[in-house]
Amino acid sequence: MSILTVTLNPAIDISYPLEAFHLNTVNRVAQVGKTAGGKGLNVSRVLKDLGADVLATGFADDILGAEIVENLKSEGIDSRFTKISGKTRNCIAILHEGQQTEILEKGPRILREEAEGFIDNFKAMLAKVEAIAISGSLPDGLQETFYSDLIAIANKQEKTVVLDCSGSALEAVLKNPHNPSVIKPNLEELTDLLGKEVTLENIKESLQDRLFDGIEWIVVSLGKEGAFAKVSDEFYRVKIPKIDVVNPVGSGDATVAGLVYGISQNETVENTLKGANVCGMLNAQEAKTGHINRTNYQALFDQLKVEKI
Ligand code: ADP
Repeated sequence: MSILTVTLNPAIDISYPLEAFHLNTVNRVAQVGKTAGGKGLNVSRVLKDLGADVLATGFADDILGAEIVENLKSEGIDSRFTKISGKTRNCIAILHEGQQTEILEKGPRILREEAEGFIDNFKAMLAKVEAIAISGSLPDGLQETFYSDLIAIANKQEKTVVLDCSGSALEAVLKNPHNPSVIKPNLEELTDLLGKEVTLENIKESLQDRLFDGIEWIVVSLGKEGAFAKVSDEFYRVKIPKIDVVNPVGSGDATVAGLVYGISQNETVENTLKGANVCGMLNAQEAKTGHINRTNYQALFDQLKVEKI
């Protein structure tokens, strides 16, 4: 089974651990961490950890972009990125005194012919995969309807699309007739989207908003509280046990990996929801973002409860 992941604005994620962070002077870093970053690349790594065949795509230049491709290759992940003339970005996290200060480059502007090249590339890759996970924001230069265009192409070939984005990119998709099979907002993103505070008390009615018509799976991740989901016309609450957390960054991406994996394996709704939450939890138990250790998978899975609401 092969899954395509789409990361349009990947990055080299750099972490600078410092005992103390001093402003307006020199900070020297002994241990620099560099990894291929971007939400879709986290999804790719977790899918690989789950045992899926993964193909990663997006836009990449021939310097940092090439480094990302090499990094993925070293982890056994195939990729086919569309080459761009702009510069692939760096994103910096300064870890200091138990805090995290981030400097996130906006990323390159995509030219029209590069966007068209990506679409051709995407169409060619679709034939080889069963499902697609699209994650993250749209880089500059692309039309707001870019994700809808990808979804329309994938739907024509009856491929499952899991979309994990927020803000105007998500709004543009929801206002368009081409629906992804799955979206995975959190409460904050739902609140932004609907323009009213969404809580566990009003979530059921919120998910019945006409904006979501035609989307089969809406999975609302709730951090340490688990998840709430609407699948077709049924509602589900996923309850999870308390766990020791090391680094929850990327847990939402791990959840996306679990969702696309479960659906493409034809798992039941209950098992797919459980598996997706287990992936989020296992990611939270690792220091590395977008990585799970499958050793504890079954033990956690057996502790999860899915109730129809
Ligand atoms: P996002 O980062 O997209 O908001 P969440 O923080 O909701 O995503 O995390 C996704 C999933 O990962 C949750 O539904 C849950 O299963 C798991 N998870 C995340 N944080 C924790 C935590 N602190 N304890 C236990 N599980 C967690």
